[in-house]
Amino acid sequence: MYYKAEQKAVNNGRTYHLAAILRRNGRVVKIGENTDKTHPRFKRQYEDGTWASHMHAEMNVLRFSEPGDVVEVIRFSKCDHTWTMAKPCELCMQHMKESGIKQVRYTNWNGEWEQIDL
Ligand SMILES: [Zn+2]
Repeated sequence: MYYKAEQKAVNNGRTYHLAAILRRNGRVVKIGENTDKTHPRFKRQYEDGTWASHMHAEMNVLRFSEPGDVVEVIRFSKCDHTWTMAKPCELCMQHMKESGIKQVRYTNWNGEWEQIDL
């Protein structure tokens, strides 16, 4: 399952390879990657302070969400695709909260899962 997410993310043609997985009752509903598609609502600020305007992986799956769903976000590193920091930005967190997402899980710098209950 994460293999599929990885394939989508690493082939997205972007500098950052992120995949978001929408889960409902433990089942995968949708897998989305960050894309070049822009949306005026969605802007992402990276940790170095630069802005990128494109569809976040989280936003990509949020369109299919229902209240109570769980979102998992994985970032694959450029070279060897190991998992790295994928903590959603403030805007994503806000949108997920508004959409009724109950929990967000993301990979940290060590490639381990961390979770936030919304
Ligand atoms: Zn975001």
